[in-house]
Amino acid sequence: MRSGIGYDIHRLVSGRKLVLGGVEIPFEKGLLGHSDADVLLHAVCDALLGAAGLGDIGIHFPDTDPAYKGISSLMLLEKTAHLLTSEGFSAVNVDVTVIAEAPKLSPFRSAMQKNIANVLHISPKDVNIKATTSEGLGAMGRSEGIAALCVVTINQKG
Ligand code: MG
Repeated sequence: MRSGIGYDIHRLVSGRKLVLGGVEIPFEKGLLGHSDADVLLHAVCDALLGAAGLGDIGIHFPDTDPAYKGISSLMLLEKTAHLLTSEGFSAVNVDVTVIAEAPKLSPFRSAMQKNIANVLHISPKDVNIKATTSEGLGAMGRSEGIAALCVVTINQKG
């Protein structure tokens, strides 16, 4: 059994779709980034790569590579899952905290859980997604961006 941690943050801007956990969420702003800027899935990818000792998302999917421009981060998660599988690892559980002043994420939580669980071949019950605000403090509190933290455990087969 191994564990890994992931953290990511993206800036909120006008004129972009907000995608979190592979779910498009109606909101007046979206996250800025090379891919779809799904900060939640980026934190999950980094936690998985960390647990497997495979570096980080920037090594595998550089934001200078045009192949990843506008890409759905569910594809990045799928590629990450393949990397782990090829090293003999399988995901056990995922725990995420999203730090966002708005919007409310609870209506989208089960869809996010299903998206992640499907890619990692685990039960949605093993994907926990929490959301918190920053109580108006600092950059997150001013809704300048959204951040996400993730911890995962993985198993080595055989
Ligand atoms: Mg990112």
